[in-house]
Amino acid sequence: MQGLMQDWPMLISRLIDHAERFHSQVEIVTETVEAGRHRYTYAECAVRSRKLAQALERLGINKGDRVGTLAWNTYRHFELYYGISGMGAVCHTLNPRLFPKDIAWVANHAEDQVLFFDLTFLPLVRELEKHFKTVKTFVMLTDQSNMPKSLPANYLCYEDLIDGGDGDYTWPALDENDAASLCYTSGTTGHPKGVLYSHRSTVLHAMAVIVSDAFNLSAIRTILPIVPMFHANSWGYPYTTAIVGCKIVLNGPHFDGKSIHTLIKEEQVHITTAVPTIWLGLLDYLKETGQDLEPLEGLGIGGAAAPAFMIKAFEDFGVNVHHAWGMTEISPVGTMGSMNSITARWPLEEQQKLKQKQGRGLFGVEMRIVVADGSEAPWDGKTFGALHVRGPWTLKRYYRANDSALDEDGWFDTGDVATIDEFGYMQITDRAKDVIKSGGEWISSIDLENAAMGHKDIARAAVIGRPHKKWRERPLLIVVLEEGAVLDKDSILKFLSGKVAKWWLPNDIVTVDEMPLSGTGKVKKTGLRETFKDHKWPDGG
Ligand code: AMP
Repeated sequence: MQGLMQDWPMLISRLIDHAERFHSQVEIVTETVEAGRHRYTYAECAVRSRKLAQALERLGINKGDRVGTLAWNTYRHFELYYGISGMGAVCHTLNPRLFPKDIAWVANHAEDQVLFFDLTFLPLVRELEKHFKTVKTFVMLTDQSNMPKSLPANYLCYEDLIDGGDGDYTWPALDENDAASLCYTSGTTGHPKGVLYSHRSTVLHAMAVIVSDAFNLSAIRTILPIVPMFHANSWGYPYTTAIVGCKIVLNGPHFDGKSIHTLIKEEQVHITTAVPTIWLGLLDYLKETGQDLEPLEGLGIGGAAAPAFMIKAFEDFGVNVHHAWGMTEISPVGTMGSMNSITARWPLEEQQKLKQKQGRGLFGVEMRIVVADGSEAPWDGKTFGALHVRGPWTLKRYYRANDSALDEDGWFDTGDVATIDEFGYMQITDRAKDVIKSGGEWISSIDLENAAMGHKDIARAAVIGRPHKKWRERPLLIVVLEEGAVLDKDSILKFLSGKVAKWWLPNDIVTVDEMPLSGTGKVKKTGLRETFKDHKWPDGG
């Protein structure tokens, strides 16, 4: 016997419809790319999203077509999330921090038809234009007064484009399993991989993270989600806020401590979230200026592990820290740190220690730890192994891949190594691969090694991540020199410039006589990490 309830497809367009009806007066505030602060309401956002959908139809965009964005967190990017997915196309957020050749590769792999981009990225887009194979139209996210002169005819102005519609548009009745958005992970080896979210996975994830033990959102709070809309859909904030109807503040291209603090104060922000690097900047600013964080109540840290000192520093300001773990492949939130009825009674110090763990799994994220022999590890907080997840917002296959990304029981191996304790708190202990996480972004050690190996003085190269105060981790290049060569760091750095992104350049270069090798002839990085565990960075970081 089947239940007798309605079929009501979980569509992204329903979120903005809901916001328009129930939160029509609530504000979306943006520190703009051009200059100044922009403010309007969910009702205005909804109308403009529909005008955008009309514009996309005029541009010949059909259901399932990919539409690229290269943009900061702004109200226009917010409209793109709804206009593109709502009309049935796929919103592909490109990460401008990727190396330009990777941006072009990703846009070509996704077969993006139109590219919407912020003024900031005009030089980059002009540089890449000839490498884009499918993008026919470029739309600058600005108005006519800020449009640069003498651009090719296929460069359009966003405000002019959407002005061509009246907003009288009915969202198509899509299947909830239709593709809605696309985000590429910064691949550690080989090319980045696409994660193709559906309407259903997006809406379920958005509904799940709202709860007070996760994002703790409500209509009376104001949220500043600093995590970029090009990084795993800004952890789903553009969707959750429309459900809840909280005021949302978008920081545009401004990530420094002063800008963030100004927004918290002037817009009376209650909750904010970002990667640890952003919080270092804010803490520095607070230290320099002696300011407080009133009325901030909650602060989310994710994307990389939250250091103990950071958790304590914010809690000393009276802010409740939530440590979250997730990944692009799981939409992205998997766990969130919050107390349960037992740990809530622990002394503050113990609670802060607990907050270094990445938190408990949300409903909708099944988890297990698998050890080397393939068996499941006990949840004892000590036994570590591969972290596997499963659930309705975890991917099953990468975009355009032939093979499933899951094992035969439907588990996805996250590539992270973790423990889970008896209360269900998960802690990442290591990364299965050797990527270096700098400021929340990944640096591929292999690519860096391969580039370094091209230098005439280098016989062997290995790159490991070492802790850095500002960036969390930075690359240390370890080389075996060719016979007779002497270490010339400047020459190596000069050689690497242009071959890898500037921010990938190693912070230091050291020599060893011989690389430690494993039984299969691979460089044993564990050995190198041990050797260089006390290495001091030249910049003191
Ligand atoms: P991305 O898909 O770029 O968001 O990267 C996901 C990866 O970032 C995860 O697989 C983890 O390795 C790492 N990560 C995310 N959150 C945390 C965290 N709170 N602590 C440690 N590592 C994290």
